[in-house]
Amino acid sequence: MFIIGSHLSIAKGYLHMGKEASSIGANTFQYFTRNPRGGSMRALDIDDIKALQSYMEEHHFGPILAHAPYTYNPCAAKEDLRNFAKQAMTEDLERLELIPGQMYNFHPGSHVKQGVDEGIVQIVACLNDILFPGMKTKVLLEVMAGKGTEVGSKFEEIARIIDGVKLKDHIGVCVDTCHIHEGNYDIVNDLDGVLDEFNRLVGLDRLHAIHLNDSKNPRGAHKDRHEKIGEGHIGIDAIARIVTHPKLTHLPFYLETPNELDGYAKEIAMLRSIVDNA
Ligand code: FE
Ligand code: FE
Ligand code: ZN
Repeated sequence: MFIIGSHLSIAKGYLHMGKEASSIGANTFQYFTRNPRGGSMRALDIDDIKALQSYMEEHHFGPILAHAPYTYNPCAAKEDLRNFAKQAMTEDLERLELIPGQMYNFHPGSHVKQGVDEGIVQIVACLNDILFPGMKTKVLLEVMAGKGTEVGSKFEEIARIIDGVKLKDHIGVCVDTCHIHEGNYDIVNDLDGVLDEFNRLVGLDRLHAIHLNDSKNPRGAHKDRHEKIGEGHIGIDAIARIVTHPKLTHLPFYLETPNELDGYAKEIAMLRSIVDNA
């Protein structure tokens, strides 16, 4: 089954996101655990969370993806900022246990002139602090575009982070197609080669989610500018090869394209027809 959805707003609650996903032809979705710029969480409404869980079971949803706010920086130079990231991620993960089987995606962070090596040490320390035995959420490192001092735009860096994590069963990877294209991986002309390289360095068994985006920039731009599906430098042919690739079809796909709901609905319909006709 093709599992496809988009990023949705949590502003009207959990069950509302499930219904909104259905209304655009999706069978999963992504949401921010709190305001993307950081800040406080919604008051906890257990009934609403449980209502979403039943709704997802009834409508055969795939796993949903909770995205950590961009403001968390697990490898910030200042200790208080690193501690903030750890504490906020710990709170997020506690709440995610209420719906078992979700995934939690985060940006590894920016090393802000400390260097990649120190950044990796700090990200590993964060993960070893926040992961706990028996947790029911998979924590995903997002592969980044390599903007500024971002860590995790190279598969090698992702592999080194995972290597340092003690509870490896709870860690995985989310590949963002815009990010790896801008990170200089040639998914347009050599998708098989890129997947082979990912498999060799990280392992395809660690890949649990795809952020499906086109890119406003040419390969290697390191700018991280998402574009609507088929309207950017990745293009519809390469996107079609991604959603129909035998090594990827079992994965959930999440759109983070610059769209409102009707735009997402159109993209989902187009992608479904590509998958159905493959
Ligand atoms: Fe992201
Ligand atoms: Fe992304
Ligand atoms: Zn991005």
